[in-house]
Parts: sequence; C-alpha cells; structure tokens
Amino acid sequence: MRIAVIGSGIAGLASATHLSRAGHDVTIFERFETPQPVGAGLLLQPSGLAALETLGLRSEAERRGARVSRLIGRTPKGRPVLDLRYADGKPGDIGIGIHRASLFTLLHDAARDSGAAWRAGSGVAEIADMEGAPRLILETGEETEAFDLAIVSDGAHSQLRHAVCPSTREHLYPWGAVWAIRPDPDGLRDGELDQVYDGCRIMIGLLPVGDNPADPQGRPGVSFFWSLRTDALPAWRAAGLEAFKAEVARYWPRAGAAIADVEDADAFAPAKYRDGVCPTWRRGNTILIGDAAHAMSPQLGQGANLALCDAAALADALRDHAPLTRALPAFEAARSPATTYYTLMSRALTPVFQSGSRVIGWLRDLLMPLGCRLPGIRNWMAWTLAGRGRVPW
Ligand SMILES: Cc1cc2nc3c(=O)[nH]c(=O)nc-3n(C[C@H](O)[C@H](O)[C@H](O)COP(=O)(O)OP(=O)(O)OC[C@H]3O[C@@H](n4cnc5c(N)ncnc54)[C@H](O)[C@@H]3O)c2cc1C
Repeated sequence: MRIAVIGSGIAGLASATHLSRAGHDVTIFERFETPQPVGAGLLLQPSGLAALETLGLRSEAERRGARVSRLIGRTPKGRPVLDLRYADGKPGDIGIGIHRASLFTLLHDAARDSGAAWRAGSGVAEIADMEGAPRLILETGEETEAFDLAIVSDGAHSQLRHAVCPSTREHLYPWGAVWAIRPDPDGLRDGELDQVYDGCRIMIGLLPVGDNPADPQGRPGVSFFWSLRTDALPAWRAAGLEAFKAEVARYWPRAGAAIADVEDADAFAPAKYRDGVCPTWRRGNTILIGDAAHAMSPQLGQGANLALCDAAALADALRDHAPLTRALPAFEAARSPATTYYTLMSRALTPVFQSGSRVIGWLRDLLMPLGCRLPGIRNWMAWTLAGRGRVPW
C-alpha cells in the first residue's frame, strides 16, 4: 500500500517504521524542516517498552535512559503522599526516564533505516478525498498524489482531527508546567520519579533521564518540572529567575539545587496540556493515531506510551485484518479500551495534582497514602501506572 504518515512525532515515526518494514511504500510529511522533539523528559512505562520491543528498540532505549522503579510524592514537610513501585503491579516491571531527544533519535533512525521517504517542511493543511484515495493539500498549496491510507499523527494540537471526526471534543487545561533538563552528573536522581506537592497548586518533579544529548559535557540529565497555570506565565516571567529559584528551594531544597546554576529563564520551557476525545478515529481511508486521536494531560505519563502501542496495533491490524475496511475498525476496537481508560483516569486525576482546590488537596494527602499501603488498591495503582489499564467495554 501507498501510505502517508502526517507528523514525525512518536506515533508517526513508530508507525512509519512498522509499516515500511512490512513492505508498504511509506512517506512521512512533517511540518518542520529540522526535527524538533519538544517537551520535557518522558517516562516510558512497561507498556511503551513492550511496544518498543516490537521495533527492536527497547534495549537501546534502556541504555540511553535511566531506570525508574519507584514514584514518590510528598509534602514540603516530608509527609508521604504517594509511594508506588512498579513491582507492585507486576514483579520485574520498571519504567525508563528518557530525554525526549534520545527517544526521537532512536525512532527517527529506525524510520530512516526502514526506507520510509521523508517530506520535511511539508505541513499538511487538509486531506482531500478521505473516503476514497486520500490526497494531502500541503500548507504551501501543493497537492500530493493519492494514497491508499493516510495516518494522521500530528499530535495533541492536531489541526486535522476535526476533519476526520467532526464531533471531536477538546479543551485546553488551565494548568500546564515549566520544565528544564538539568545536569545530574552523579546520577543522584536515579531510580525514582520524585515529586513534592503543596496542596494542588504546587507540584515540583524530578525525573532522571539518563543521556542528555544537549549537554556539551555529556553529563546525564534530570528533568525538572514546576506546575504553573498557563495564565500565570507572564507573572512568573515578570517575577524573575532569582525569585523562582528561591521559591523552588523553599519548597524543596533538592529541586532548588538542581536549578541553582540556571542563568537564563529561557532554560525553562512552558508546556500546555490539551485533552481531546474523538468518538471515532477513522473516516474512509484516513485514521487518527497518538495524541491526534486521544490527547490527554501528562499527569499519568501515558501519552507517548499509548502512541507507541497505537503504532504497533495499527501494523498488526493491517497485517491480520486486510482489507482496510476491516483493518481500521479492528485497530480502533483493539486500542479503544486502553485509551478510554487513560482518558478517564487522567481527567479524574489532573485536578488532584493541578487545581486551585484546597479540599481536593487535603483529601488526596489523607487518602492517597492509605491507598498506597492497601494491598489491592496499591497493586491496581501500579498496574495503571504501568500502562496496563483497560475499560471492560
Ligand atoms: C510536559 C510534557 C510531559 C510529558 N510527559 C510524558 C511522559 O512522561 N510519558 C508519556 O508517555 N507521555 C508524556 N507526555 C505526552 C507525550 O509527549 C505525547 O503523548 C506524545 O508526544 C504524543 O506523540 P504523537 O506522535 O502523537 O505527537 P507529537 O509527538 O506531538 O508529534 C506530532 C508531530 O506532528 C507534527 N505536525 C503537527 N502538525 C502537523 C501538520 N499539520 N503537518 C505535518 N506535521 C505536523 C509536529 O511537528 C510533530 O512532529 C508529556 C507531554 C508533555 C507536554
């Protein structure tokens, strides 16, 4: 088949690699001229690692990233709120913290080596004839040849999802974050995703990411993040870098130390979170995958993992359920229980960690430590974290 993949992010690159290796004629259309892996460090869950395994990339991701076996969250006074180990879900499970650029390079090289063709600097404005043989209308006005299948993997802020699924519901969360990757030469953060919360307004995190391709001295990195309302960003900038560093250090001296030598506030990049639910991901011979199909806040650290699993499942469906009229519904049916589960869970949990509510913060600090200790609840929480959650419908 002639297949167009729109967007060379995690879902697009993984999908292009699977399908090109399976013998399809794949062309990737990417808006940017040069690769731009945006966003903070990522936590690869056991589900995402299993999907990387199907591409033969798991061991390299593990080598470049940092092992994470435990998630800890506490108040500034050190009272535990969250304490979860992957092994509580399934013995042997681990997560891998990884610099986004490391994961991108792995997937990019695999897609290139698979023989997929590349059209960089080719943003897609529209898709014509989705019901028949889709043709892409590029932002330059150029119209491409017809494809047998168009895969829309243009991310959380997709401009194409409405055309595929006009009844899409989406909203931007009021809270986002600022983040930066900082050197962690001694690997002090290894093994744990560590967080501090003060109510639901303050959340600070440190995630080890292993190799830091951007560090001139080749030091390993740690991803620092600070929860911030998107409308508070101008005030955050106006307050200045030194005030920010002092505030972080006041809540959590270890996080303060991680950012102490930042000299320019531009080292911190802002992130916005979008939630998007598409009742269907397909229209004719066009299919949505990754964040384009199911954007969610990164509270549970699942988006990249779901994107990798989508890519593997789409390749399986195209192989096992030909023709396309059967394969695309089979793909949707296979993925919907997991994506519905994580859409619901991330919506429910986002205000528990990022909102203005005092009551929710108080209840969380009271109940979550109990949940983490209770067998059954603790195992279910770790199971969910690992990416194994599914709704029964
Ligand atoms: C701060 C932050 C932290 C996160 N942490 C985690 C985590 O720990 N674990 C986790 O699993 N997930 C995490 N996520 C979510 C994760 O980043 C996304 O779920 C994942 O990147 C989705 O992959 P994707 O390929 O669908 O989209 P993307 O990776 O966003 O890729 C989309 C691509 O499409 C291109 N594009 C866009 N529009 C067009 C167009 N019209 N034409 C052509 N190309 C186009 C873009 O340039 C981009 O290359 C986090 C997200 C954020 C913001």
